Amino acid sequence: MNIQELVRDIPDFPKPGIIFKDITPLLANSEALVHCADRLAGLCPTDIKIDKVIGIEARGFILGGMIAQRLGAGFIPVRKKGKLPSKVNSKSYGLEYGEDILEIHMDAIKAGEHILIHDDVLATGGTAQAVCELVEELGGTVVQCNFIMELDFLNGREKLKTTVASLLSY
Ligand code: IMP
Repeated sequence: MNIQELVRDIPDFPKPGIIFKDITPLLANSEALVHCADRLAGLCPTDIKIDKVIGIEARGFILGGMIAQRLGAGFIPVRKKGKLPSKVNSKSYGLEYGEDILEIHMDAIKAGEHILIHDDVLATGGTAQAVCELVEELGGTVVQCNFIMELDFLNGREKLKTTVASLLSY
């Protein structure tokens, strides 16, 4: 199945000069959605039991939940500042376009748990790196970071100390 044709380029979003990869056509296609979830779950290491999948707000929630279901794992939302109701661990991070703060519930991960991190796009790697740090601070081990797509020319992969997998590269 050609999922690349379901990703469209939106020029000058969210700022002039940025070409935004929009996955909403892919998400709206039921076959593509199942295809991506099956393939991303299939790219996870099989020799380690994944305890929990993290989805990064907001587009990481959709396939993150579907991957968790396929792996028989729990799901953890990592959210932007101020959205999670209980005690959080916070991390500020640099984006391709700006700065932000991500948060995880302090009790979301038990020490020693194996964690898979999922997001839609790997760009500079700042977001995923911040989430890796949040996981490690809670005593978890990141087994893999996976993405629908990575923007190769931004070298995000080099920032991440863990295994990286993605379905599309640009
Ligand atoms: P990074 O921190 O620079 O790797 O940026 C990754 C984060 O920004 C992810 O949460 C993505 O959802 C978002 N992002 C960056 N570029 C794009 C894009 O072209 N399309 C969709 N999301 C993007």
